[in-house]
Amino acid sequence: MALQHLGSDVTGEDVEDLRSWLSRLEGCPPVSEQVVLGCGRHGDERPTWMYVETDAAAGVARRRCLACADVVPLLDSNDRWTHPPMWACRGCGQSIVELAAGLSVPDGEHVEWVALGARCVECGRLSGLTDVVVDRLPLSQVLPGL
Ligand SMILES: [Zn+2]
Ligand SMILES: [Zn+2]
Repeated sequence: MALQHLGSDVTGEDVEDLRSWLSRLEGCPPVSEQVVLGCGRHGDERPTWMYVETDAAAGVARRRCLACADVVPLLDSNDRWTHPPMWACRGCGQSIVELAAGLSVPDGEHVEWVALGARCVECGRLSGLTDVVVDRLPLSQVLPGL
């Protein structure tokens, strides 16, 4: 769906701006849910600063928490891993990003499409990283795999 070509000159102040940007993406399935991908290994805190490796064409991504270095694949990315390089902002070259996933859930229960978006922590540029077509899996099954 060529998400990586969308919105490359838009910037956001924080991860909420990234969420709302995902909800307004055009030329793709409507995004009804936006989930910030923080690290779940820090108790009540969910750090959002990440490095990410992603292959836009293959629809795979892995993020690495800046604070604890825990690596989490997006959905089944490990099964289809293509060993892409670490992503860097096209505006400023920074590799640290905040990440959010936009989900297309036409019936409110089953996910059909997932888009991964990033906000550069240096210059704020919002970028579409990759997208994955999901075979109508229940939302409850997709959310833990993001
Ligand atoms: Zn962490
Ligand atoms: Zn940047």
